[in-house]
Amino acid sequence: MLNSDKYEAVIGLEIHAQLATQSKLFCGDATSFGADPNTHISPITMGHPGTLPKTNAKAIEYAIKMGLACGCEIAKDNYFARKNYFYPDLPKGYQISQHTTPICMGGEVAIKTNEGDKIVQLNRIHLEEDAGKSIHDISDTHTFIDLNRAGTPLIEMVTEPCLHSADEAFAYVTEVRKLVRWLGVCDGNMEEGSLRCDANVSVRLKGETKLGTKVEVKNLNSIRNIKKAIEFEIDRLINLLETGGTIIQQTRSFDANNDITFSIRDKEDANDYRYFPDPDLAPFQLSVHHIEEIKKTLPVLPWELKRQLSTQFGLNEYDVEQLCENKEIAEFYLKWVEQTKYYKAAANWMMGPIKEFIHEKGISYSNLISAIPYLVELLGLVELGQLNFSVASGKVFKGIMEQPMSPTEYAIANNLILTQSADEIDNWINEVLAANPEKVAEYKKGKKGLIGLFMGEVKKKSKGKADPKTTTQLLEQKLNS
Ligand code: ADP
Ligand code: MG
Repeated sequence: MLNSDKYEAVIGLEIHAQLATQSKLFCGDATSFGADPNTHISPITMGHPGTLPKTNAKAIEYAIKMGLACGCEIAKDNYFARKNYFYPDLPKGYQISQHTTPICMGGEVAIKTNEGDKIVQLNRIHLEEDAGKSIHDISDTHTFIDLNRAGTPLIEMVTEPCLHSADEAFAYVTEVRKLVRWLGVCDGNMEEGSLRCDANVSVRLKGETKLGTKVEVKNLNSIRNIKKAIEFEIDRLINLLETGGTIIQQTRSFDANNDITFSIRDKEDANDYRYFPDPDLAPFQLSVHHIEEIKKTLPVLPWELKRQLSTQFGLNEYDVEQLCENKEIAEFYLKWVEQTKYYKAAANWMMGPIKEFIHEKGISYSNLISAIPYLVELLGLVELGQLNFSVASGKVFKGIMEQPMSPTEYAIANNLILTQSADEIDNWINEVLAANPEKVAEYKKGKKGLIGLFMGEVKKKSKGKADPKTTTQLLEQKLNS
């Protein structure tokens, strides 16, 4: 067994997020995913002699948005640098990146873990272009190259070495994915490679302040894999130290089939990137005014909205988290509660029938916006005791979604409105009691819990129409008389 209590893990993450721009960072080629291979590759993407790159203003705007949301300082003076290396999926032989002037500096991201809330410190967020893709699984003997992705704008978000467990890393990446989607700067689809993560991991004796030698696990493409790779690395590194081994600085890759990592290169073969300012791209300045203008376009941020939902609508932490899972859900809820005062009930509907319906139909919340007035009415019917919840969510909701109409009209037409008529309910109760004489006798002997059974029977007999409150009252009167 590992003597892991002696050690502390230290983790720093680098997240690459593909910006959701229509075109590439330095030319008009489309960035859309899934096109035929090598169809979005103009001479600029290919770096042919004589071509000139031109910076995509939207990409800069998106990077600034992310930086402002994370509380980073935005650099006023920027330039792009060439990072030179040779690789088959890098058509120009260099990647255009930022070197000494990341567009966003510092900043932080708040996460929730089992141990409580934590602030993850960012080192920087910089802009760069993506490389193409090498495809190894089409042929046993050949590697295929698709350069469509080359030149796609990325932000790289780099944390300080301030995370200490796979769970914290998991929470952080989850939060970043939520945030980029919330801001609309990246679609966050890890399966499509829009968000990828490199995990830097080291271990040290508890109490030690110097950082240990790190290894870097490259290109993790799911949150699960990030967690598994870090867990594996922490165990491996501690094991190495415990058995008298030495940790060497390495770049490693994750094998998701076996949940292990393996070395791809040692530090000795590290690249010398020979950075220099790209001579084809003029440095760019960002004015305070421009940054302020971008700030104005930021949506309400998730943590601001969470505060609003809990103070303005009195929702508990669980509800607030669920409703702020993404911006679409939150916006839908806000539209709904503009028209009703049943805030908590609307939240329950959001997390129950509405969510289920959206998933079942594979639609988005925006498809349901026009139904909000009906939902307001439906919620009112339930809250005022005219419809029972299961009938409302099962029959009426689904009915009016199929054929848009007033839920009141639908419920009346289908004879679903709860009846408080004592006469009607009395009849159902009499039938139920007559059909269960032994149970009635047991109840009278003291087995009061049987009231639930009688209630259930009356509900069945009335097809859900008997008002539960009236039914309970009448049942108790009858049974106790
Ligand atoms: P590199 O030059 O190797 O890319 P950086 O200093 O730029 O290294 O850091 C890259 C990432 O690795 C950052 O997220 C940083 O927090 C993290 N990191 C650096 N040193 C360590 C360490 N000893 N243990 C864990 N993470 C580290
Ligand atoms: Mg690195």
